[in-house]
Parts: sequence; structure tokens; C-alpha cells
Amino acid sequence: MKDPVRKRKILKQVAATEKSFGVDAWPRKKWADLGRGLDGAPAVLTPAASAVAAMSWEDLEKQAKSCTQCRLNTTRTNVVFGDGSRTAELMFVGEAPGADEDEQGLPFVGRAGQLLTKIIEAMGLKRSDVYIANCLKCRPPDNRPPQPDEIDLCNPFLLRQVELIKPKVICALGKHAAQTLLRTDTPISQLRGKFFDYQGTKLMPTYHPAYLLRNPAEKVTVWKDCQLIMKELGLPLPPK
Ligand code: URA
Repeated sequence: MKDPVRKRKILKQVAATEKSFGVDAWPRKKWADLGRGLDGAPAVLTPAASAVAAMSWEDLEKQAKSCTQCRLNTTRTNVVFGDGSRTAELMFVGEAPGADEDEQGLPFVGRAGQLLTKIIEAMGLKRSDVYIANCLKCRPPDNRPPQPDEIDLCNPFLLRQVELIKPKVICALGKHAAQTLLRTDTPISQLRGKFFDYQGTKLMPTYHPAYLLRNPAEKVTVWKDCQLIMKELGLPLPPK
């Protein structure tokens, strides 16, 4: 990285995040494997990633929707770019589109999405007030977990979305989104309920709505995490 100011900023973020994780050293191999810095930018910017890093919304959307960088372009029906307010204070990031999202080209429109909508409304917001995106823009076949190279290639799109929106808070939904954004193997049960730093933006990991559909008893846990977000955003909290 050439820009020393940016490098210093990233190193500071690394130190802060490492501290909050309670670790003082990252396994070097993982950094190399993932090939990107803590802010999500590839350590060595490929020409495609550097171009994306400077794109307008219009070009970014066009680029994502015609992306053929990874194998998922051969099995997708639609690219699920993201949806909502481009000036949102709150951004939700999920794992990857499922069957319904792939079909409609919109994030979180299936059963898990309906539950996410209810959560957003319980926070006193509308879906159109927030921005919703995923770590991957294309559906992995049979909803298998995203593969590391797919995450690496797709990450510049999400990174640029965050830069353009400049949300006050990012809510990472589920293990894959939280572990991808924070670059850790720490279980979601240990990550959730705490704010982390993601490129200078507060990031709250919580359970994925699909997990809540299988474990409704955990809804109360997610609601606690949402109330921390509401407090951070200055939204009125329900009376105790
Ligand atoms: N699950 C996700 O992680 N994202 C979606 O868009 C839908 C379901």
C-alpha cells in the first residue's frame, strides 16, 4: 500500500480490533490466504478491485450485475446487488442470496427476509430506511457456504457499498457475515452483542434470521443486540 496515511489508519484499526478480540497476533497465513487488509481491501489490489474501489453507484451496480469473476456467475439467475436507502444510517449485511433472492434479484425476500423486515420494523424503522446487502452477490448452489475465493472476489463490491453509504452502524447477520467482515474464526455466539470497528464504522454481529427461524428462543437475544444498535443510532427504545 502506497498511501502512508491510509496504511497508518488501517494498522490502527488492526490494533484496535485485535485488542477487542483479546488476541495480540493473527496467524500470518490467514492474512495471506485471505489476501486483504482489515478494511476488506485486497492487500494486493487486482485491477478489477482497484477499479471498483473508485466507482460511482451506477458503475458499481453495472459492474456487479455483469460480474463473471467467480464460478457463481454460471449458476445464478440474478445478481443480488443490494437494496434500500443509499444514505442509510443502518446497514444490514447477510451471507449470500438464497433461492428467493436469486429469483427476484433482491436481498432478504424469503422467509428469513420476512423475519428481518419484522426486526427492522420493531426497531421503529422501515425497510426503505436501511440498506441491505450480502457478502456474496450471487447465490451459491444449494445454499452451500461461500468459498474463500468467492468472498475475496466479491468483497470489493461490499466494501465500496459501505464507503458510499457511510452508515453509522453495520449489523452483520450470522456467522458468515460476521466472520468474513471481522476476519476471525471466533464463533458468532462470542461475537454477538458487542460493537466492533469495521473501517471506522461500528459493527454489531448478531444471529442470522434464518437461525432464528430454527431457534425462536434466540429472538430475545437478537432483540437485545438490536436495542444496542437503536441506542447507538439515538432511536427511541421500548419502555423496560
Ligand atoms: N440469507 C442471506 O444471508 N441473505 C439473503 O439475502 C437471504 C438469506
